[in-house]
Formats: sequence, structure tokens, C-alpha cells
Amino acid sequence: MESIKFAVLPGDGIGPEVMTAALQVLQEAMASTGIQLDYQEADVGGIAIDTHGSALPKATLDLCGESDAILFGSVGGPKWENLPPKEQPERAALLPLRKHFSLFANLRPGLLFKELTPASPLKEERIPDGIDILCIRELTGGIYFGQPKETTTLPDGDIQALDTMVYRKSEIERITEVAIQAARSRGKRLCSVDKANVLETSVLWRQVVTDYITKNAPEIELSHLYVDNAAMQLVCDPNQFDVLFTENMFGDILSDEMAVICGSLGMLASASLGKSHNKHNKPFGLYEPAGGTAPDIAGKGIANPCAQVLSAALMLRFSFGLDAVAAQIEAAVKKTVTGGTRTGDIAFGSTAVGTEEMIAAIIKNL
Ligand code: NAD
Repeated sequence: MESIKFAVLPGDGIGPEVMTAALQVLQEAMASTGIQLDYQEADVGGIAIDTHGSALPKATLDLCGESDAILFGSVGGPKWENLPPKEQPERAALLPLRKHFSLFANLRPGLLFKELTPASPLKEERIPDGIDILCIRELTGGIYFGQPKETTTLPDGDIQALDTMVYRKSEIERITEVAIQAARSRGKRLCSVDKANVLETSVLWRQVVTDYITKNAPEIELSHLYVDNAAMQLVCDPNQFDVLFTENMFGDILSDEMAVICGSLGMLASASLGKSHNKHNKPFGLYEPAGGTAPDIAGKGIANPCAQVLSAALMLRFSFGLDAVAAQIEAAVKKTVTGGTRTGDIAFGSTAVGTEEMIAAIIKNL
């Protein structure tokens, strides 16, 4: 491999700040491999509305299509909040990107280093060693996309709204395959979350997951939980899970619950993988921090760049197969943070450093 080609979409707010930082780390980490970084930046979100009149300009979409992965910052902010909902940056840029590239699997590592447990709302005795789990959410099916979806006035004058929850066996199998691969790279334990006591889609989900894993990955220890129990277990004892995986709406809720128990959004990365493979025969993916544009701290040089850096590491691992470099970056972030160099969101009253100092420390620890 001579080079890796990816699109860089910094977006709004702290996006450009943390993206610059992440690219510096990538550059340093890749230097010893002899593999070149081949990337181009493009506007997305609010800045793209201001400059090109569209949150996802054609040139940006074309650039993504010509690339093997997308490194995304975040989009949106108060300046665009008064636009009609459909034109707002997140809805008009991120959702179409997910749809266009069929990004059906969202992986969100829930990682809280032992030294950062005060950042979690959970009592420290529940997480004496921090948290280390992975949440996988099906991203393109289920009730958010099922048709019909409508609001109608009934003959008796009452008003009825309708959403439809649909899943196909093939959709469940492909997300199960992603979950198996992820579990194999971790503790080989998968917990599938559904509501099979009530929902038809969940009955199918549970059946397909069980059959697929029995046939294709018998070494994986599979368990099932109803979603209400899973939500409870996640706050009682998060580390009982290795890999949690579930359908779209349950995953939306559980992955946010997981994010909050892991402390700062500034530490959490995510990967959204597509059904198509790139020229390296790896999944095309979009990699982004779990948080938003943080307008309250944007432009101050104090944003935590770790989530963006860790998102870049996920990109190296999943879309380019560069596991060793990804692990090196993750280890450098861990060493930096646990060593005491921290931005304000994870400093807990001790002296905080700015984004640039944080990056310099991560690069030193590579
Ligand atoms: P947010 O995630 O931007 O901020 C929530 C809190 O977390 C803030 O106090 C912020 O300062 C802090 N925070 C987030 N990332 C941080 C970092 N890297 N370092 C330090 N602190 C950090 O959520 P919000 O305030 O609800 O949303 C702000 C804007 O971002 C909105 O316009 C929203 O639509 C958008 N948003 C975009 C995405 C995305 O692009 N994927 C996701 C969520 C929100």
C-alpha cells in the first residue's frame, strides 16, 4: 500500500480545530510506515450552506465518492438553528451522507479510562477500572426509515400518526456479521438487544442473529436482552458487556446512554461502516466524534481533540486495515490522558491544557 485516500470534512464549530489536530497525529503516526496520506478537504454543514448554498455540496459528495473513507468533524450551530428543519446542517448533510453510502453499521466504543472515572455520572465503585465496551447500532433500517410514515385525519376527526418498523433477514445478517467481526477483535462476547416479547421485528431479529452466529461463529458467546433490561444493566454494571448490538432506534438510545456514562463527549469516537468495500477490500466508512460542534467552546483553542484523533484511528483500522498504527495512536491518547495532560472537559479542577498542547503531548507519546 503506497497511500491511503480519504476525504476530510471538518464542518463547523470545534470541527476544524480538532480536525487539524487529528491530521497532525495521523501524519506523525504514519510517517514510519512509508504510506502517504492522500486527502483533500471539503466544506460540509453550516459553512457549506454559507459558502455554496447547500449543506452537502455536489463537490463534497463527489470527493467522498472518490475516496476510500471519510473523516468527519461535526456540523451545525446556533447560526443555522432558525433554518427549516430539513435544511439544518445535521439533517441536510449527515443523514444524506449516511444514506448515500449505505452506512448501515454504527460502531461506538464506550471507553472510560480508570483515571477518568470522576467524569462519569456513575458511582466510582460501579466502575473501579473505568469502562470498556462497544455498542453497535444498525443505522439504515427499522422504524426511522420504514414506510408508510404519515399523519392522517381519520373519518371521526381524530388525528393519527403512523411509523412503520421493518427489518429484513438480510439487513439483520449483515449487521450481525459486523458484530461478529468486532467481537472477534475483543472479548468474543456478543449481547444482542431486542424486544422479542412484543415486536415482530424483534422476533425475527433474535431468530436470525441466533441462527447466523450458530452457523458462522460458534466461538462467539451470544446472549440476548430485552431493551428495557439492557438500559438498566448498562447503568448498573456496564462492564458485564463486551459488545452490545441492536437495531436502529434501540441503538440510538442505548449508545447515547453509553456515551453519557463514559464521561466527556470529547473522548468518544465512532465509525459508520457501509455495505460497499473500498479498493483495499475494506468497508468504506465515515468516522466522526460522538459529540457535536460545541459552540460554547468553539474558537477558544480548548476543545478536546481526542475523539477526533480516536476516530482517525478507527478509520485506519476498519477502512485501511492498519491495525498496528491505530493501536499505536490509541495507546498514545491513553498514555497522554492517564499521564495527566488533559483539556478542561476532563481536568476535574487540575490545570487544563489547550488543544495544541494536548496534540503535542499525544504526538510525543506516539
Ligand atoms: P455538543 O456535543 O456540541 O456539546 C455538548 C457539550 O459537550 C458542550 O458543553 C460541549 O462544550 C461539550 N463538548 C463536546 N465535544 C467536546 C470536545 N471535543 N471537547 C470538549 N468539550 C466538548 O452538543 P450540543 O451542544 O447539543 O450541539 C451543538 C451543535 O452540534 C448543534 O448545532 C447540534 O445540532 C450539533 N451536533 C452535531 C453533531 C454531528 O455533526 N454529528 C452531533 C451532535 C450535535
